[in-house]
Amino acid sequence: MGARKYKEINCEIALNQLKRRMPYSWDLNIYRGCEHGCKYCFAIYSHEYLGSDNYCKDIYVKTNIIEQLEKQLSSGNWKREIVNIGGVSDSYQPAEEHYKLMPEILRLLIKYQTPAIISTKSDLILRDYDLINELSRITYINIAATITTVDEELRKLIEPGGVESNRRFKMLKTFRETNASVGLHVMPIIPYLTDSFKNIDSLFNKAKESNVHYVLPGTLYLRGKTRRVFFDFIKKEFSGLYNHFLALYKTGGADKDYKNTLYKTVNLLRDKYSLSSSYSKPMKEKLKKIE
Ligand code: SF4
Repeated sequence: MGARKYKEINCEIALNQLKRRMPYSWDLNIYRGCEHGCKYCFAIYSHEYLGSDNYCKDIYVKTNIIEQLEKQLSSGNWKREIVNIGGVSDSYQPAEEHYKLMPEILRLLIKYQTPAIISTKSDLILRDYDLINELSRITYINIAATITTVDEELRKLIEPGGVESNRRFKMLKTFRETNASVGLHVMPIIPYLTDSFKNIDSLFNKAKESNVHYVLPGTLYLRGKTRRVFFDFIKKEFSGLYNHFLALYKTGGADKDYKNTLYKTVNLLRDKYSLSSSYSKPMKEKLKKIE
């Protein structure tokens, strides 16, 4: 895969401070746009300001991000807060095979003892196992995979550029050998497609087998361009469900009764497999230890 299909750009800063203080308050995105091309991608809106309508094909690469990151991390003002790597794009999408920017970023995080969160739909992250292992021994690092279904045919339709779900589970299991906090994000649970008891049971079962620290579920949310892209996809691939989705998604979130019923199932299965949903407690404990 050559670099020519990618658009190289310069960034002025690497770390963006978030308005909302989540468990993290800084975001770092090497790439804008994401080749994984998930049909439910919440981040499609973030491409508009780049003047592109093609979120999964027009991929922008911040090729000077390493220099900019070092400037920020080496500044006397840096308080070693948690950095979310890849808030609006996957840092281990295929472009990363070519640009290899993540290893340099991890080296800087190690040098400046900066905690981080990485969520990915690719096992390319295993390439950087040694660096993540090293980082996990000096500060908090969270490695998460988003996995929505065990049905590979369906997975290819809804996340065409991501790697197989089984490979993502294997990746999580491998990172359990480090000191990283490891989690499964079952996000989004898509009504009619991935919300069956059987699918959620299988995902939780595999999460248990992979020995993850926690499982975080979330329902599908459809706003702005994501709504249009998702409804076009349903019309094309599951036309019989189109009207059902319209009825369920009168607004951005699913109908309240639907969500209540779904979370009963989720909670039942979480108890069945004794899986935690909390990643903030171990995070606070570890950060306290290294203060
Ligand atoms: S991996 Fe994440 S950022 Fe990339 S297309 Fe899928 S949902 Fe969007």
